[in-house]
Amino acid sequence: MPKMLQATISCIQCRQPFRVSFQNVVDAKQDPQAKMRLLTGQLNLAQCPNCGAPNTMLTPLVYHDPAKELLITFVPMELNLSKEAQEKAIGDLVRGVTSELPQGAFKAYLLQPRQALTMQGLIDQVLQADGVTPEMMEAQRSRVRLIESLLEADDADLPTLIQQNDAQIDSQFMQTMTLLAQRMLQEGRQALAERLVMLQNQVVEESSFGQQLIERARVQEEVIQQVAEDVNALGETADRPDFLRLARQYADSEERLQALVGLVRPAFDYQFFQELQVVIGQAAADERPQLEALREKLLELTSLADQQARAALQDAATLLQALVNSENPQEVIEANLALIDVTFMQVLSANVQEAERRGDARMGERLKAIYNLVVTMLQANMPPELQFINEVLSAHSPDAARDLITRRIHEFDGELLGAIDAVEDQVADQNDPAMLERLSLLREAAAQALG
Ligand SMILES: [Zn+2]
Repeated sequence: MPKMLQATISCIQCRQPFRVSFQNVVDAKQDPQAKMRLLTGQLNLAQCPNCGAPNTMLTPLVYHDPAKELLITFVPMELNLSKEAQEKAIGDLVRGVTSELPQGAFKAYLLQPRQALTMQGLIDQVLQADGVTPEMMEAQRSRVRLIESLLEADDADLPTLIQQNDAQIDSQFMQTMTLLAQRMLQEGRQALAERLVMLQNQVVEESSFGQQLIERARVQEEVIQQVAEDVNALGETADRPDFLRLARQYADSEERLQALVGLVRPAFDYQFFQELQVVIGQAAADERPQLEALREKLLELTSLADQQARAALQDAATLLQALVNSENPQEVIEANLALIDVTFMQVLSANVQEAERRGDARMGERLKAIYNLVVTMLQANMPPELQFINEVLSAHSPDAARDLITRRIHEFDGELLGAIDAVEDQVADQNDPAMLERLSLLREAAAQALG
C-alpha cells in the first residue's frame, strides 16, 4: 500500500504553518480512491485549519496502473527542481513502485515511464487510458467553461445565456454542476457553492432539459402516489405474498416496480426471494419465464435502492464534513436546506455518538453545536403552525404550555388543526403520554378558539 507522508507547509493565504499528509505514489489498483482524488483535483489537497483556504501539497508524483500498463511521472514546475534533482526524485519513486511488485510482474513499460508536464496533463493521460477520449474531455471542459460564464454573468443576462446554450444543457451538464458545487463546499468556498446551487435551480427552470426533468418528476410523483395507495390498501398486516401479488400486477411497468421497491424496500428481503423461488418452481411452465424476469428485475431494483441509500449517506457525510470545516456553518446550512433530511440527521447523530465513543470532546461539542443549529434553522423554516405546536410541546411545564396556548391561539386559523393531526400521527408510535396530552390540550383550545 502506498504510504501517506507527513509534512509541514505554510498556508498560501494566511502563511500559518500546518501539518498535512500527502502521497507521492498513486497506485490505481491498490488504492482506487487515490485515483479518484487525483481525477477530481482532490489529491494532496488540505484545508488550512486557520483560514480554511485549500492548499495543495506540491510534490513529485508517480502514477501507476498495472492493469493498463501505465506509469506516469510528474514533477510540478513550481518546485523549481534542477534536472538532476527531478531525475533523482522520480528515480527513487519509480524504484519504490517496482521493488514492491510481486515476482515476475515486472514488464517493459516500467522501464520507460511517461512524463506529464502539468497536473492536467497527468489527469488527461489517466482518463485517456480509461477510454475517455480527447473529444469527451473537451466536452467536459466546455461544460465547465459554460458554468463559469454563468457564475460570472449578471443576473439580468442569465435567462438569455441559458437560452443560447440550451443545446448544451443535459444530464452530464447538471452532474458537472453538482460535482463542482460539492467540490467548492469541500474547499470551503461556501458563497460560490451557494450561488452555483441557485444557478442550477434557474437552469432547471429555464432550459428545455430542465423542463423535461420537471415533467418526468411530476409523472414519477404520480406513479409513487398510486403505488403508495395500493400499498396502503394492503393494510398493516401485509406480508410477502401480498407484495409479490402487487409486484406481479406491476410486472409490465418498471416505474411502478421501482416505486414499490423504494416504498417498501424491507419487504423485498432474502426470504421474499426464497419464497418467490418456490412460487417459480410451482408455476406452470408458460408462466415461469415471466416470473423469472420479474425476479431479475426486482433483484436489480433492490440493489439499485441500496446503492442510492449508500449514495445518500455519502452525500450526507460530505455535507457534514463541510459543516465541520466551515467557519460559518449557518451559511452552509442555509445553502443546503434541501439536503438536510432524515438521512442527514441520522449521519449527524451517529457522528456525535462516534466522537463520544472516541473520547474526542472537542469534535463532540462541535457536532452538537451543529446539531442544535440545524434543528433551530429547520424550525425557523417550518410553517408557523408547526413552530407553534413545537413551542407548546417543548414548553417547560404543562402550565407554561397552557399559558402559551391562551396567549397565541388567536394568531392561527383552521390550518392549525390539520397540523396538530399530522404531528399526532407522528408521535403516536413514540409512546409519550405527556406529549399526547399536550397535543390534546392544544387541540381542544384550538377547536374552541376557532369556533
Ligand atoms: Zn490559512
